[in-house]
Amino acid sequence: MTGPVAVVVDTPQHAGLGGALDYLSEQTLAPGTLVRVPLGRREVAGIVWPHATRPVPEVVLRPIAQQLDAMPALAPQWLSLLEFAAGYYQRGLGELALAVLPPELRKLDASQLAQRLRRLHKKLRPADDAAAAPVALPTLNDEQTAALVAIDAAAVDPHAPPLLLHGVTGSGKTEVYLRAAARALERRRQALMLVPEINLTPQLLARVMARFPAQRVVALHSALTPAQRLQTWLLAHLGLADVVLGTRLAVFASMPRLGLVVVDEEHDASYKQQEGARYSARDLAIYRAHLERVPVLLGSATPSLETWHHVLSGRYRRLALERRIGGAALPRVRVFDMGRLPRVQGPPPVLAPPLLEALRERLARGEQSLVFLNRRGYAPVLHCTACGWKSACAHCTAWRVFHKHDRTLRCHHCGFTERVPRACPECGNLDIAPLGRGTERLEEQLGELLPGARIARFDADATRGKGNLERTLAAVHAGEIDVLVGTQMVTKGHDFRRITLVAAVNPDAALFSSDFRAPERQFALLLQAAGRAGRDAAATTPSEMWIQTWHPQHALFAALREHDYARFAGSQLDERRSAGLPPFAHLALLRAEARDAAVAQAFLRAGAETAATMAEAEGVMIYPPVPPTMQRVAGIERMQMLVESSARVRLQRFLSAWLPKLHEVRFAHKGLARWAVDVDPQAI
Ligand code: ADP
Ligand code: ZN
Ligand code: ZN
Repeated sequence: MTGPVAVVVDTPQHAGLGGALDYLSEQTLAPGTLVRVPLGRREVAGIVWPHATRPVPEVVLRPIAQQLDAMPALAPQWLSLLEFAAGYYQRGLGELALAVLPPELRKLDASQLAQRLRRLHKKLRPADDAAAAPVALPTLNDEQTAALVAIDAAAVDPHAPPLLLHGVTGSGKTEVYLRAAARALERRRQALMLVPEINLTPQLLARVMARFPAQRVVALHSALTPAQRLQTWLLAHLGLADVVLGTRLAVFASMPRLGLVVVDEEHDASYKQQEGARYSARDLAIYRAHLERVPVLLGSATPSLETWHHVLSGRYRRLALERRIGGAALPRVRVFDMGRLPRVQGPPPVLAPPLLEALRERLARGEQSLVFLNRRGYAPVLHCTACGWKSACAHCTAWRVFHKHDRTLRCHHCGFTERVPRACPECGNLDIAPLGRGTERLEEQLGELLPGARIARFDADATRGKGNLERTLAAVHAGEIDVLVGTQMVTKGHDFRRITLVAAVNPDAALFSSDFRAPERQFALLLQAAGRAGRDAAATTPSEMWIQTWHPQHALFAALREHDYARFAGSQLDERRSAGLPPFAHLALLRAEARDAAVAQAFLRAGAETAATMAEAEGVMIYPPVPPTMQRVAGIERMQMLVESSARVRLQRFLSAWLPKLHEVRFAHKGLARWAVDVDPQAI
């Protein structure tokens, strides 16, 4: 008996328009079965999708070419997750569903897949599946125990709310994740652990690997080779891996026995995908857990305001870890007012004298310090002292950054790189000088201020080569470094034991950003940075966090001084409420890119015109198009238009109706390079 089946394929024609096509099958195929189907002259991978209720077309259907049923079908919950994600983020179902599969999997035919699976099973002989060498588990403290009890209760309550594990830095959150995962495994379920970055924190990966039986843990992230990614994905899909530790794309891992979802550092902006389908892995993780009726644990010392709002309104439940492990004290926060320095000619000193003194004391006592500056390179811009020329990028609305070690000017946005000119390109003056300071220059200046100190730098440049990142971290852990200089990379999750002083030398730039999320991000960043200090309860000297600022009265620093997240979050939420910003409003951005800004703008205007009646019916506000802060990147002009609604469902209904219209409008604007809808945009 043959019948039509709906197959979802990745075709550009169907972007944003569903994407299921009908094919003929000789036998009944379970939804979620991977198939290969003819499409035009090609043969492509597809996924059998549950029949939509729609009339089967009268045209003659083409038969399915192959079914890849050597592996089990994707579970109905996985299909539901993808349907939700495509709908919510306004992407084509086929485009998204196939894009989140390993690229290698999409290339295999039935016999190749069967061969891969045989090889995989051979590799995993039971002998290899021995238990991990037993590690001595710490005895949980009261707060950790209470958290675990709540997670256990959520595992048997299908209506349990999402759980926020709100713990100060070093309070043992990771230990709770590991125990909760172990409990899931005892129930014969799989655990999904999402982290913002795996490569940055090899320590975390090692900790997870050491805790569970070998081969039962896999890491799923974008730095894997295609073959590794396929193998990892298959191990999770076949249920052979019990713990999947991964970055945002792992939220789509197929896990047939899912029993727990953990989102570590849930506030981290890197959970939001910034191109293609602009999904939030944190939000999808919550939805996925809800679909599968399993507990979801969001962990953070500084939860996102969205999450905090849900806690305050009772939709999420907060589990608190208020104390550091072993009673280690949080660092004392010292806000130094740069305005108090005596006025002298020229730029202010790199380090305020009392901070320099504090660093010298730590050095003399053999303790480590961390100096944090969120800007890499030597100086953010070079300028000519005679004519005022500055090292602008020819292709972007940005300065090119001076990198001294290889004497280049580099654009951090488009990559445009040139040797530093010997003389000013405008006037020939030989005196061109760096303006401002990045980590490379800070490292150099600290070397002059702290003679004899062993200084290391931890940023995207210094850790680029293979093994460099691990080497630097190992040297810090081994006590071979006295002062660590770094960008935000250094603030993330590292369990440094010997650092007793952290200094933020230029935290002011973020205070006056036009992005309404900037204060929230900066607070999280500074509290994370502070969290690297004083993690060893046995240390004898109290730890400190220094802030050098020209704005010591800023509310952000006042809250930081008290380590008072709740106060800061409360005041931010008040501001957001009165300004009608998220989480009290729901936003989407329509982004457009073209060589000519006028083309992008015309597209957005036309888009707004087609939307006018629908927007009015749904009570959705459409703001006029504006350029983003970085208007031009790599020679392409960008424009954006904000759409706002007080209700998520209204915004969703509006966007779903608007999207097909936008596809039509797009055809009338030939010069447009790209356009995209960004639901719940991160940066505005
Ligand atoms: P967080 O994730 O909140 O920063 P971690 O889970 O990394 O905290 O814990 C910090 C350190 O304390 C780690 O070295 C961890 O092994 C240790 N630790 C966690 N819980 C306990 C405990 N109950 N007893 C002793 N040590 C613990
Ligand atoms: Zn000049
Ligand atoms: Zn550029």
